[in-house]
Amino acid sequence: MSSAPASVGMPLQDVDTPALLIDLDALELNLARMARFTEQAGIALRPHAKSHKCPALALMQIAAGAVGVCCQKVSEAEAMVAGGVRNVFVSNEIIGDSKIDRLAELARSAHLSVCVDDPANIVALGKAAQRHAASLDVLIEIDVGSNRCGVRNTDAVLEMARLISRTAGLNFSGLQAYFGTAQHMRSFEERRQAIDRAISRCREVSALLSRHDFQCRTITGGGTGTFPLEAASGIYTEVQPGSYLFMDADYKRNRCADGSSFTEFRNSLFVWTTIMSHPAPAVAVVDAGIKAVSTDSGMPEIPGDRRAHV
Ligand SMILES: *Cc1c(COP(=O)(O)O)cnc(C)c1O
Repeated sequence: MSSAPASVGMPLQDVDTPALLIDLDALELNLARMARFTEQAGIALRPHAKSHKCPALALMQIAAGAVGVCCQKVSEAEAMVAGGVRNVFVSNEIIGDSKIDRLAELARSAHLSVCVDDPANIVALGKAAQRHAASLDVLIEIDVGSNRCGVRNTDAVLEMARLISRTAGLNFSGLQAYFGTAQHMRSFEERRQAIDRAISRCREVSALLSRHDFQCRTITGGGTGTFPLEAASGIYTEVQPGSYLFMDADYKRNRCADGSSFTEFRNSLFVWTTIMSHPAPAVAVVDAGIKAVSTDSGMPEIPGDRRAHV
């Protein structure tokens, strides 16, 4: 067993590498900015915890005003509840007997909500909730443009709302309307048009539901790339950005309405590494390998030095 690369209070030079570092000043600034924005906009904030998967950071977000967090998996929700988070929305469909069972069991010790887009899944969630004498809030996910999960037919949403409301152990609480593929669209105009379509879709669905006496207490969506648009819509009641806390190199490539780069939030998560070889004047080799960084949005950037690149 190797020991931890650092302990509290250790000077940075003594931290063993590679190590993941949080710049706490930058993180606290991001935390406060988002909390202030959502408070002033009068919309609930439920950050997505998949960016950090860390209950201590979730509790900081909640202390700053968030109503709870989103998770994408039951195992993440279990870790959040074990770490003291009392309100978790699994912003995803949960399929498979053992996962559904764990979700219902978890709902006994915290406020749990989950997405559905299929009647058979609603029946399975209801049975598990009854078995555990638990209560689960259920949001119907609607496809607002990502062509991924989510009900596509408006009448089918009404049918599912009916099914949820007559299933013991389940409460219909509203709509999940997250437009994932809009988040990293580079121009503000593209993102605005995408979210305009999502907003129209929410209006159409919630109007049909309310004609049949189903009220959406919650209409939720919006990530770091689009949350001001959902917040200004008048129909969304909650936003669920996650990446804003650490920010990432890819989000900085998004453009704001005036064409400037997206610098409202600061990068707060870094990989601390050591140059282990310097074989030529313009070449340095570091001890952070490909698995110490993520490369799904390209190679990492080196902060503070524009001439150096990976
Ligand atoms: C990833 C995700 C978010 C947050 O998006 P960011 O771009 O990280 O802010 C919100 N909701 C859902 C369902 C997600 O999967």
